[in-house]
Amino acid sequence: MVKAVVGANWGDEGKGKITDMLAQKADIIVRFQGGANAGHTIVNDYGKFALHTLPSGVFYDHTTSVIGNGVALNIPVLFEEIKSITERNVPMPRILVSDRAQMVMPYHILFDQYEEERLGGKSFGSTKSGIAPFYSDKYAKVGFQVSELFDEELLKEKVVRICEMKNVTLEHLYHKPLLNPDELLATLQEYKDMVEPYVCDVSLFLDKALKEGKTILLEGQLGTLKDPDHGIYPMVTSSSTLAAYGAIGAGIPPYEIGQVITVCKAYSSAVGAGAFVSEIFGEEADELRRRGGDGGEFGVTTGRPRRMGWFDCVASKYGCRLQGTTDVAFTVLDVLGYLDEIPVCIGYEIDGEVTTEFPVTSKLEKAKPVLKMLPGWKEEREDIRGIQNFEELPENCKNYVNFIEEQIGYPITMVSNGPGRKDIIYRESPLKKQ
Ligand code: GDP
Repeated sequence: MVKAVVGANWGDEGKGKITDMLAQKADIIVRFQGGANAGHTIVNDYGKFALHTLPSGVFYDHTTSVIGNGVALNIPVLFEEIKSITERNVPMPRILVSDRAQMVMPYHILFDQYEEERLGGKSFGSTKSGIAPFYSDKYAKVGFQVSELFDEELLKEKVVRICEMKNVTLEHLYHKPLLNPDELLATLQEYKDMVEPYVCDVSLFLDKALKEGKTILLEGQLGTLKDPDHGIYPMVTSSSTLAAYGAIGAGIPPYEIGQVITVCKAYSSAVGAGAFVSEIFGEEADELRRRGGDGGEFGVTTGRPRRMGWFDCVASKYGCRLQGTTDVAFTVLDVLGYLDEIPVCIGYEIDGEVTTEFPVTSKLEKAKPVLKMLPGWKEEREDIRGIQNFEELPENCKNYVNFIEEQIGYPITMVSNGPGRKDIIYRESPLKKQ
């Protein structure tokens, strides 16, 4: 059985918490796309952790954590991260790295920085982790696969060839120091020594696991709206954030993905540039940012304050549809307890017409939110943490969840009311076909 845990929106929906929670009953957790450019925050018995590359299952001793072929693998970051958790008494996780994963090279990170510098005010708000240059190279067929580290002759020849090519751009476009092939080769030798014990034919491993009836979780990074095809292009990431890509980025048959758990946050946040229709500003945004998530809505990788907004039914309905959602996990509901009234975006007004279908980027730029005010639950009970049964939630809180489910049209079967593993309410949804 394969379950995918993915995001409906711009990322930071709380996928890490949901994956960590579901990993209790899983055998294998696979990262299938993205790189160290975004992060998950996880709170569990060992403490609070920020993960960028490791799958969120690394805190259990019964799970295997897999870096799939679709990931942008930054080897030093991976090993720093392993060290950062084992230093805090987490047992050394069982890790496998796909021999077909490609590596983020030191120059990818430089190119990312140089390009942002060159674009100046027109930049994409990149996290400068080398992700866009990495995926550009992968699809231009000039990337480096982990497997290539083990063929010395090929590697030597390729490093010289790639440096020649990169140096043209460095010299003439960016006016920056050139790459030295010998240095690069030495770095790759270090990468080889680090990664060698973990390298594996991942798709074969997963095929065997499926035949043995194991439970596999595919852990997505970011969300639908950052997908290069279906998101807010060009303000997107460079690898597909959709559950469907999980099949490719892990190397499993698409029909094995039996459950798609799409994570939606009870309000919106986004990082980077791009249209964000339900965005709020000023004191209203500051307060939600301060109270949001677990200790405020600030980027896990960059520390940047996240942009804040009200729940967007249009974007979330679309986000769930493109993921192929079977279940919605609705997170961070506890944070909204302080509000008397909660605005929800139920439509977009574009050129005088209201729509509930998410448009292409050029139209999205013109969209204005149509807001509906829902009553808060402050008077009945502000703090909903600790509640374990949906029926025990305050009336207006239940109404908020029910209203959003109706608007997005996908079953909310989990409601998260706190950052911890146990802060979860399972809900029977009228939309769930039994
Ligand atoms: P991800 O990238 O989708 O995993 O999301 P992040 O980890 O960046 O952001 C989610 C933040 O919300 C983290 O700080 C989590 O600890 C926190 N979080 C997750 N679920 C809940 C919840 O139900 N309530 C609260 N208060 N915080 C939550």
